[in-house]
Amino acid sequence: MNRYPQMLAPLDLGHVVLKNRLLMGSMHTGLEETGDWNRVAEFYAARARGGVALMVTGGMAPNREGGVFPGAAGLFTAADIANHRTVTDRVHGAGGRIAMQILHAGRYAYGPDCVSASAVKSPISPFAPRALDEAGIEKQIADIVTAAARAREAGYDGVEVMGSEGYFLNQFLVRHVNRRDDRWGGAYENRMRLPVEVVRRVRAAVGRDFIVIYRISLIDLVPDGSTWSEVVQLAKAVEGAGASILNTGIGWHEARIPTIATSVPRAAFTWLTARLRPEVSIPVVASNRINTPELAEAILAGGQADLVSMARPFLADPDFVAKSAAGRGDEIAPCIACNQACLDHTFSGRISSCLVNPRAGHETELPVIPAKTPKTVAVVGAGPAGMAAAITAAGRGHRVTLFERAAEIGGQLTLAREVPGKEEFHGLIRWFATMIDRAGVVLQLGTEATPEVLAGFDEVILATGVSARDPGIATDPGAHVLGYAEVLRGAPVGARVAIVGAGGIGFDVAEYLTQTGESATQHPAEWMREWGVGDPATSAGGLAEPMPEAAARSVTLLQRKPEKPGRKLGKTTGWIHRAQLAARGVTMLGGVNYERITPEGLHISFGTARENPTLIAADAVVLCAGQTSNRALAETLGRPCHIIGGADLAGELDAKRAIDQGTRLALSL
Ligand code: NAP
Ligand code: SF4
Repeated sequence: MNRYPQMLAPLDLGHVVLKNRLLMGSMHTGLEETGDWNRVAEFYAARARGGVALMVTGGMAPNREGGVFPGAAGLFTAADIANHRTVTDRVHGAGGRIAMQILHAGRYAYGPDCVSASAVKSPISPFAPRALDEAGIEKQIADIVTAAARAREAGYDGVEVMGSEGYFLNQFLVRHVNRRDDRWGGAYENRMRLPVEVVRRVRAAVGRDFIVIYRISLIDLVPDGSTWSEVVQLAKAVEGAGASILNTGIGWHEARIPTIATSVPRAAFTWLTARLRPEVSIPVVASNRINTPELAEAILAGGQADLVSMARPFLADPDFVAKSAAGRGDEIAPCIACNQACLDHTFSGRISSCLVNPRAGHETELPVIPAKTPKTVAVVGAGPAGMAAAITAAGRGHRVTLFERAAEIGGQLTLAREVPGKEEFHGLIRWFATMIDRAGVVLQLGTEATPEVLAGFDEVILATGVSARDPGIATDPGAHVLGYAEVLRGAPVGARVAIVGAGGIGFDVAEYLTQTGESATQHPAEWMREWGVGDPATSAGGLAEPMPEAAARSVTLLQRKPEKPGRKLGKTTGWIHRAQLAARGVTMLGGVNYERITPEGLHISFGTARENPTLIAADAVVLCAGQTSNRALAETLGRPCHIIGGADLAGELDAKRAIDQGTRLALSL
């Protein structure tokens, strides 16, 4: 039975029928810049084979000054067009459709030649833009139109004109950046002239039988942003100018409100899409934090949108649609919205991949080929590394037994799921359980793997994980000291807590301990109140006064490094955690020495001279001081084995590296 009748229903756009209601949103993968066009083509073809109706490419620069960074890919030469033709041919051969996003970054372009409406620098860029004159604006429009015409020549089914997220066209719309007093500035009719003109001329250049998507910002989340009536006015004008679909964007990149991170409630912004839909007669697309077929179906069935855009979920699982259609929705690898292997990679100049699916972006390098000689494989430890190795090896035809000492699978993931805002980890563990079952892995829970038990296997993989590091701080009798695992499993801690170690886990524990009541991630209205998301109908840009919940207890988070705690957290998510803890009044201290733990609390001093002795009065001291590898079994095994995950390397341990290492090893057996 089709459980997703709305999601799997076709959509007739007039000259073309989309086979279902799912669109893969634009993501910058970095693949185009590698110059390996077979790799780019395979990335998109894999998703086309998986059944998504329409894909939007990563943003292509219309010209040098508009590129997100120097050397950003675009359709500049005949060779570029031929390369893109490789992609579109492969996608069409796989039964898919693909539109090219034209992304002019305006003042977000990372370079001294960037341009915008006015010379107003963005807080997230070191470069002040040059204010364009009339001829300069005409050149930008002409370049965007040329890019659209070349996209058609390269075989694309359409283009997406990027008008949201605070990029070039969005910059003209708001007084925040547009300080002009000519026909491109001032009254809203003038400020919206540029995007409308772009759509009008793009449509004229590409003809009627070509998809033109305009991505509109529904809520800017910056001061002086668009009002709702302006958003509606623009949507109608863009429709009139010839757009076939309105995709939606939420928040500028410089907004200080998270819009896609895992702590953002699922589908948190579809109330805005629902409000826009009746205002126009072209299809409207919902986006942001939508990651399951159930949710997509509910959005469509509830009339909130005509199409649903998911971007990262198609990194996590290219077969999202095919699995949904085949009644195997529980096998869809879930995007947990962590950003760790996708956006964090993009912002550090690396190719995008996926924590849950390390093959994303590496399709040509990591093919899944059935094993030539099926072997018996023992995997010890059902944490992320072990589970990934087990299901990948079994998927290739090996006979796999997975041993786990605990009564459940998941390893460190079972702790992560307890952290408010990390609820997606529940789904990830469920998915691993499903895949272990479907792949035919023999799972032995509550079982200690001994050298004798392992002796009979062809291959042994040790994924025995980590133990919490004891930092060896002098401790008086009667002091209340706890490990992070005990705390996340619910051990009582009292009203005042000192946390030793401000890495990812120290931050997680601080969020857990300061949480009052249920996680706001599960309650969108409360989450919006906490972060200050208002209604653009009543406040420009949709900004309201943030009203954080009072913290459940008083927490001090400490580290020895003489720097601001949290500097090494995820590139695109660290600021969210820092802001969250600051809003909850958590004291963060760097450059401390741990002198002693007493029943009164944690005694510290500062700097190399151990100055300024201070007592952090605390009812409990929680140790989050990193981990050491569990390798005892390897030392007594007496036979060759593979060691992966935290057992291999405890420092910098995280699920991304663990799953990647487990998957790669299993593909090589
Ligand atoms: P971590 O990030 O390595 O942090 C360990 C903390 O303990 C640091 O603040 C360190 O700072 C301190 N420390 C280390 N040795 C110490 C010692 N001997 N005495 C006292 N303090 C010591 O480790 P983690 O927080 O346990 O996290 C483990 C891994 O899980 C991380 O690498 C991270 O990637 C991953 N993780 C990720 C997330 C995420 O959201 N992406 C969340 C949680 C965990 P000083 O040395 O300056 O004191
Ligand atoms: Fe989703 Fe994380 Fe994978 Fe990115 S890395 S696609 S956020 S699961």
